[in-house]
Amino acid sequence: MKYNLVCGFETHIELSTDTKLFCHCKVKFGSEPNTNCCPVCIGAPGTLPVLNKQAVNYAIKMGIALNCEINLFSKMERKCYFYPDLAKAYQISQNDLPVCGKGFVQLDSGKKIRINHIHIEEDAGKIKNESDGIYVDYNRAGVPLIEIVSEPDISSPEEAQEYIEKLQLTARYLKISDAKMQEGSIRCDVNISVKPENSSKLGTRIEIKNMNSIAFICKALKYEYQRQVDAIESGEKLIQETRRFNESRGCTESMREKENSGDYGYFPEPDLLSICLDEKEVNEIKSSLPEMYDSRIKRYIEMGVSEKIAKVLVKYVNVSDFFDKSLKNCKFPEKVANFIVGSIFGFLGTESKKEDFDISVSPEDLGRLVNFVSENKISMASAKELLVESLENNSSLGNKISEFLANDKGFDLDKVCEECVAENPGAVNDYLKGKEKALQSIIGGVMAKTKGRANVAEARKKILNLIKIQSK
Ligand SMILES: [Zn+2]
Repeated sequence: MKYNLVCGFETHIELSTDTKLFCHCKVKFGSEPNTNCCPVCIGAPGTLPVLNKQAVNYAIKMGIALNCEINLFSKMERKCYFYPDLAKAYQISQNDLPVCGKGFVQLDSGKKIRINHIHIEEDAGKIKNESDGIYVDYNRAGVPLIEIVSEPDISSPEEAQEYIEKLQLTARYLKISDAKMQEGSIRCDVNISVKPENSSKLGTRIEIKNMNSIAFICKALKYEYQRQVDAIESGEKLIQETRRFNESRGCTESMREKENSGDYGYFPEPDLLSICLDEKEVNEIKSSLPEMYDSRIKRYIEMGVSEKIAKVLVKYVNVSDFFDKSLKNCKFPEKVANFIVGSIFGFLGTESKKEDFDISVSPEDLGRLVNFVSENKISMASAKELLVESLENNSSLGNKISEFLANDKGFDLDKVCEECVAENPGAVNDYLKGKEKALQSIIGGVMAKTKGRANVAEARKKILNLIKIQSK
């Protein structure tokens, strides 16, 4: 029998607001443990939370970008559970009335992955296992999160990857989170079950918590699919449980039987008012959204950039922004794009450096450089050299261009062609005898003398004219 994979995601994205969800502590990754904390976020008795409006705005932005209904009335609730990283013994979250309702993410194939809802909640602290004991760091406690809950519409590891990458990209374009999986600012709980191909009844669902690598998510999905199919085929009964992915062994392991939402004893948060929005506010946020990646891909292709390169450019929001700025005074998008994905990416190397795109070259200067190449004032080879030198020395490309042009005396193409014809009587003879290829060596000479800046077609025409005159 054939089985289908059925998979849904609960994706947590840490919002890059200035301060935490309910207090004025800084949201900062990598600080000394327990330095960004206060009585509110460590849950001291008698403290009162105040909701951060920026976090609500960010959640609404994500909701709009993912085609969600925005709920004008929503409220915060307490989710009660005990764990040492949660000092209050409850997490303030949303349950019944989340800020965003139904929406969807569209995959490149056209398939829609439905979003059930998006809610706001606070993050917990972090437990750290050290050699001399177990510690807890509350810097992350109270950091605002959004949780994006999908319907179980994902049916392959490839779809899972595309879905996560689209969420990541959306968050980055909206500038509401850096969405870095390796730093935990985007994490997924994955629900997985299998069902016989023609059945509409869903199988027993297992959950894998806290996945923070796309590669591991894909591996875990493949492993779980096979494990569940094997269990069903051998007549074993699957239980609803939470499992963890063992990275070194590449398999999933049982953690505990799954709790249902009833186990959390949700109840309305008595210390916070409901969140009431009006249409005007939501429309204002809507009109403040930047142009997203799918629209940018279309625009780049219309400019003449290949689909492949366009997709590479939009994969990193900083690169896409840089590309757009480069074209303010330059009309050669394809050439600019080639310099970016060629020389600049070659220099940067790693994915995270491409994401940060922190370089000394300004987009305006790259546009200028491409203009000079197009006007044959700087050869392609020299342009690449100037660009790479600026990147490597962390210096201004604009200065390099000015220096180059000041030292460059230019050339007279007529004169250079005359010289090359005179210096290559052998090649001229060969050409006259019918060896077409001989012309190449004369053109090669012209390119060498002009450091690659001569226009090949023009040089060819001039050389042919000179040979014609000579042979008369
Ligand atoms: Zn605090």
